[in-house]
Amino acid sequence: MSLLSCAQVYWEFTGQCTQCGHCTDACESLIAADMTLGEIAKALLAAQRGATTPEELAERIAENPRLVQAVRGCFFCTQCKNTCFAHNDVTKLIYHARVDFQNLGLIPRDSWSSVQVDQEWDVFTAYRAVYGIGFADLTRHLPGEGLSGATDCEIALMPGCSLAAYAPELTREIFTTVEQLGGKATLIDLCCGSPLKSAGFYARAEALCDRIASELQSSGARQLVCVCPGCVNEMRQTLARHALDIKTVSLAAFLAEHSFSPTQEVPREQLWLSKSCQDRDGDYLEQTCAALGIDATTPAIFNGCCGAGGAVSAFSLDRQEKQTDSKLSFCPDGATVVTMCPTCTYTYAFYLLNNPRPVTNKHYTELLFVNQFDWQQVFGQLEGMWSGEYGPWLAQVLG
Ligand code: SF4
Ligand code: SF4
Repeated sequence: MSLLSCAQVYWEFTGQCTQCGHCTDACESLIAADMTLGEIAKALLAAQRGATTPEELAERIAENPRLVQAVRGCFFCTQCKNTCFAHNDVTKLIYHARVDFQNLGLIPRDSWSSVQVDQEWDVFTAYRAVYGIGFADLTRHLPGEGLSGATDCEIALMPGCSLAAYAPELTREIFTTVEQLGGKATLIDLCCGSPLKSAGFYARAEALCDRIASELQSSGARQLVCVCPGCVNEMRQTLARHALDIKTVSLAAFLAEHSFSPTQEVPREQLWLSKSCQDRDGDYLEQTCAALGIDATTPAIFNGCCGAGGAVSAFSLDRQEKQTDSKLSFCPDGATVVTMCPTCTYTYAFYLLNNPRPVTNKHYTELLFVNQFDWQQVFGQLEGMWSGEYGPWLAQVLG
């Protein structure tokens, strides 16, 4: 049996790569590693050839810092794929390489123990528990106290981990709007599994999405509205895999389709839209502009990962910070950075807290709704929960 559980993926990738080197030129991480994507696949297979046990294989990979850099330094931004004539799928390659890294013990536990989003406790659920944030009344498809789960919902809202934890009032405001526009709603209070994939738990991430599909089915909802582009992509794939006829749309598309009028005036000047890496073909960007009521050619747009992708910060905080800085450097003083993915909003907010500059950082829903993120409070509370009375419990459940 192969020591690498994903060897077949690497063989296939090797066969499809001409070693032209265009991907390397497109990526700082690959430049630092001095590798093409095809060479990553080749290096993994070469390491396997010289090993007789998993321990030996792990050692051989760990002794190759270029390979480790290329695999763990990837944001999954797909910039490299855009340069590849063969359209070789970088995400498939690196996600599988991370699975092998995880199997071989090459991803330290402390880099993923707090984001096991398929377990009872992760950093988001713990934060919500510590600060009394809950949505039991909105997750109507799940049985509650003295109530059986609703099976007659028409629509479901999936806010994603960051929004639900760090902006509960904004989440409720969005939920109310979705229900007013789309009929009886329920809340899908789960993560799409992205942090699990980054940590090399691909099958667990898929199982989590399967669980969401099953909850959707039981709720009766015919439509799923996701705030984050990444959740839309994951759920579309999952629902297709299960051949479920549930339409998945972004919140922006849903609001635009229902001619939603913003509850406050949307600023027109100095908007800089940070395009999500999950928005491969620019659809979500157009939908966001439509929801904001602005022409897609009006705002300035910048592409590329905000720095949060691929859990790179757990491998190289420096690389993540450089990426965040380089993205924000597109925005002139006085600009408003408008994000589509709440995790991008979080990442920019954290960076700006430590490296202040005169730009405003908003998730696009903050321009449409009254409630806002309060990042000072969020970061204060995130830090405080580890040192407060819950510290020992957190160390136990997330350690
Ligand atoms: S751009 Fe594509 S074909 Fe060229 S080296 Fe990279 S993966 Fe291989
Ligand atoms: S997906 Fe992005 S970070 Fe990963 S190898 Fe490609 S360009 Fe580099």
